[in-house]
Amino acid sequence: MSSKTLNGVFIDVEVEEPAKSDIELARELEEVCPVGIFRATEAGTEIQQAALDECVLCDLCVEAAPAGSIRIIKLYEQ
Ligand code: SF4
Repeated sequence: MSSKTLNGVFIDVEVEEPAKSDIELARELEEVCPVGIFRATEAGTEIQQAALDECVLCDLCVEAAPAGSIRIIKLYEQ
């Protein structure tokens, strides 16, 4: 498969509970991600599916969150 027009084809980002429902963390993630993958809502972090493949693997989100609560999954390596 070579199409780059599909979203979330190459990268998936998962935020585990309870970090996902942490509103403070959601705001921080929204701020640190350079490509806008995280959106802070009243329920916590929401992943912007349309932005997933923009991930530059900078790990800023992983460093901002509690250890092990965010996983950046490289689908093309599986
Ligand atoms: S690794 Fe960087 S670009 Fe990718 S989701 Fe995390 S903060 Fe955003």
